[in-house]
Amino acid sequence: MKDKFHRSGLCLEVPMYIDDGEYFGDETGTQLKCRHGLRPKRRTAWEGKDTGRRFLGCPLEEEDQCDALFWVDEEWQPRIQKAFEMLWLALDHASTRNPTKAQYQWSNFVDRTIVEEDKMKLEFQMASQISAIEAKHKKRVSRIKKETEDLKAWLMGSLVVIAFLLFKIIENMYQGC
Ligand SMILES: [Zn+2]
Repeated sequence: MKDKFHRSGLCLEVPMYIDDGEYFGDETGTQLKCRHGLRPKRRTAWEGKDTGRRFLGCPLEEEDQCDALFWVDEEWQPRIQKAFEMLWLALDHASTRNPTKAQYQWSNFVDRTIVEEDKMKLEFQMASQISAIEAKHKKRVSRIKKETEDLKAWLMGSLVVIAFLLFKIIENMYQGC
């Protein structure tokens, strides 16, 4: 008898599954048995590219389950598989529990992007601060220069006045003699 269910060579592990209100319980329309020789149960995959795909699996509780896996639905179209994988990545990233390798790659990518953005922001801030300091410094330097010039001019003026006064005093002294 040709069974409508088929094993998948692509999926090496029984996927995570959920209780689907429309597809559950024992599968009666099949001669298939799990490795325990038991009638398989209806499951709905809830993981990665196979999300929502129905299969028959071992009826035992999780830790006692064998690896019986008979897909009911054909593989989804590649675009849909991709979409599911992206959704799970996004979801995995949102909750950090049970991180997968793919999630690490994804989160590393995201973290790197954030770090790069922060670095760029920081560099930009620093650059603008530096140019502000430079501008301030330049202003200060030119102000100091100007003050020095003023002081010099004032000193020179004072010196001339002092020299003139000294000259007058000495002149008076000689005249007094
Ligand atoms: Zn079994």
